Amino acid sequence: MADVTLAKKAGFCFGVKKAVDEVIDLQNRINTKIYTLGPLIHNKEVLKRLEENNIFSIDISDIDKLNASDTVVIRSHGVGKAVIDKLQEKQINIVDNTCPFVKAIHNKVEKYYNEGYRIIIVGDDKHPEVIGINGWCNNTALIIRGGRPEGYIPNKVCLVSQTTEKFQNYQKALVDLSNTCKEILAFNTICNATKERQEEVSKLSIESETMVVLGDRSSSNTKKLFEISKSSCNNTFLAENYEDLLSQISIEDLRKHKVGVTAGASTPDWVINKVINEIKGDSHNGK
Ligand code: SF4
Repeated sequence: MADVTLAKKAGFCFGVKKAVDEVIDLQNRINTKIYTLGPLIHNKEVLKRLEENNIFSIDISDIDKLNASDTVVIRSHGVGKAVIDKLQEKQINIVDNTCPFVKAIHNKVEKYYNEGYRIIIVGDDKHPEVIGINGWCNNTALIIRGGRPEGYIPNKVCLVSQTTEKFQNYQKALVDLSNTCKEILAFNTICNATKERQEEVSKLSIESETMVVLGDRSSSNTKKLFEISKSSCNNTFLAENYEDLLSQISIEDLRKHKVGVTAGASTPDWVINKVINEIKGDSHNGK
């Protein structure tokens, strides 16, 4: 019997599951072409299934090509206020699937920007979530990766974080700002889903002879899980699905080892179940 352990927190996080379930439910109800602003999630298998269900990803720059009464879904990363305003101006049906944890950051940023605080975001300035957050303070935020921002810092600042940021970066920014600013409002807005997955893979990779990390190569949280796993278990494989895994290691070799499996926050259950069932030799249950 193969020895395989699946991490308890593997696969879809709350926000991604909600976004995918709701868009499929919406499609069942309105049965017409639906657009998402950017890929709903970073997973090719899921995006293929969505396209088969008449749900297509478009860029923000494509909004001008849309017609009044088209339906547009905002993904869990969220968007800035100007994007919502533009969609409303064009009388497009908006279905806002911004993750509630991200929406809470938008609300804080808007409130404190209006009260005269300079917004500082710890995160990646190119990431759509950070671009969206910055859009709630008129794109005036200082965006940093930890530590003190360069240049002049006002005395009154409001600090928030990208939901997937490392805690150490947030902490460093807070400590450094405390040396400079008189008034700091600091909100640790890092999401637990990321932290829990990283802590679990850290333990599982120490106990396993082989680790399988399932997820898209374009998914940043999957890549982080892979890096953490690889640092304790050299025999770690990053695979997008079962076929991809088999191109790197044979099923016979997998079955000889104590295997740990985890998956990024945008990896669907059917990809995880297929791999687990195949390793166990129970393939007829996999879809
Ligand atoms: S990682 Fe957290 S904040 Fe991001 S979509 Fe998932 S639940 Fe929401």
